[in-house]
Amino acid sequence: MKIIQSGWGRTNKSKNEILNVNDFNPDIVKKAKCGLAVGLGRSYGDSSINSGGVYFSNNLNKKISIDHENSIATCEAGATIGELERAALSVGLFPPVVPGTEFVTIGGAIASNIHGKSHHTMGSFSSCVAEIKLLTSQGEIIYLQPENENHELFWATLGGMGLTGIILESKIKLIGVETSYILVKEKRARNIEEIFNLLSEFDSKFLYTVAWIDLSGSYIGRGRVAGGNHATYLELPSKLKKNPLKTNLPKKFQIPNIFPSKTINLYTVSLFNKLWFHKPLSNKYMNVRSFMHPLDSVKDWNRIYGKKGFYQFQFSIPIGSEVFIKSILMELKEFKMASFLGVVKKFGQSDKSLLGFPSPGWTFAIDIPAGHPEVKTWLAKKYEELANIGGKIYLTKDATLDSQNFNLMYPKSNEWRKIKLKIDPYNFWVSDQSKRIGLC
Ligand SMILES: Cc1cc2nc3c(=O)[nH]c(=O)nc-3n(C[C@H](O)[C@H](O)[C@H](O)COP(=O)(O)OP(=O)(O)OC[C@H]3O[C@@H](n4cnc5c(N)ncnc54)[C@H](O)[C@@H]3O)c2cc1C
Repeated sequence: MKIIQSGWGRTNKSKNEILNVNDFNPDIVKKAKCGLAVGLGRSYGDSSINSGGVYFSNNLNKKISIDHENSIATCEAGATIGELERAALSVGLFPPVVPGTEFVTIGGAIASNIHGKSHHTMGSFSSCVAEIKLLTSQGEIIYLQPENENHELFWATLGGMGLTGIILESKIKLIGVETSYILVKEKRARNIEEIFNLLSEFDSKFLYTVAWIDLSGSYIGRGRVAGGNHATYLELPSKLKKNPLKTNLPKKFQIPNIFPSKTINLYTVSLFNKLWFHKPLSNKYMNVRSFMHPLDSVKDWNRIYGKKGFYQFQFSIPIGSEVFIKSILMELKEFKMASFLGVVKKFGQSDKSLLGFPSPGWTFAIDIPAGHPEVKTWLAKKYEELANIGGKIYLTKDATLDSQNFNLMYPKSNEWRKIKLKIDPYNFWVSDQSKRIGLC
């Protein structure tokens, strides 16, 4: 069967055959020019697109079993983060590194080495991954651990964007929690300096922190900073104590596919940003799902950007380069680039993954409509500036990075290429992104 595979930003698409991972065999590798494992298509650009190849899906492989005594979940790669959260919460456990949406497969989370609101305390997803079961293009199954004899391949596969093989299963480390609620504290910040200061302060008090920036009006970076810790049973009000590990299923409200690209304009965006900035602060208990995945209450919200889609520009910069974020805010205003809220987070330490994104410093993410006439030229200029200051683009959000700046941003990419050559000598696993950035 052929499917149209699209990134979340809807700027990149391809129609190819999709096979179930269970049907993988060496004949397919001989017949097809190239292949790629795909999850739920929540990467924004062309990381999950392979024009001219075959796709392998894990969507029938979703089994999760939990070893309660050792706080480890064994998950098939097609299980989602949301499904893992619910299975873990039912026995008083939780995966401490989760992304902003629950609709991400375990395979996709490993391939992108995702980070969450806990990066300053927990690091990237790699910190939770005890083992990966990998299927290579030669049909071999290899078990990878961070410290075993296959550790090099482990660190090339975490963040390796599906280019080392198909992740079939993984063992994920969980933390103990008494309730499914987060005790949240929020504060407003008047400008970007206050955002930086508040985030640093919140990082010392909370397991999870994040800031949203208002991209309207004077673009001075005013916004809201949120911090949260898992609530203990005793901290819950009595009405919640009856069912302290209650979990909510995703809501069904869906955006229809009818929005013209002009729906996102300076007026609508400005209004949304203002409403968000002024809505009452939360200093209360929130269900973990609402805190971790606030955008999931509106299904397919990416359709609001219309047929032309949008880019997400997510970068990281070292401490000391904060002026870069200020210049971005000013330029968004100057170019009249309408964008919903910007997200800011302070990263903790990096891990050993060769293509890992987070490094100590700041990360900033904004969505920009792809229809803006200057967007591609502007992004190209920003990549050069980022590469010069030791910044990086997050590959799972990227759709337009060039090979020269990619190599500067990811200095361990050559080390990664050597491992790739050993494990996938005929370069079977490729994506449109890996070709564009010259990774393989
Ligand atoms: C609303 C929203 C919020 C987000 N928030 C965050 C966030 O807070 N932090 C963060 O880090 N990311 C975030 N993301 C990005 C998302 O976590 C990643 O793009 C993730 O990889 C998507 O997983 P997926 O299952 O949809 O995979 P896909 O998008 O289908 O694929 C992504 C990559 O994973 C590879 N892949 C997928 N499955 C496998 C497998 N079984 N074996 C090998 N490779 C595989 C693909 O080849 C591709 O390279 C967000 C995305 C959205 C849409």
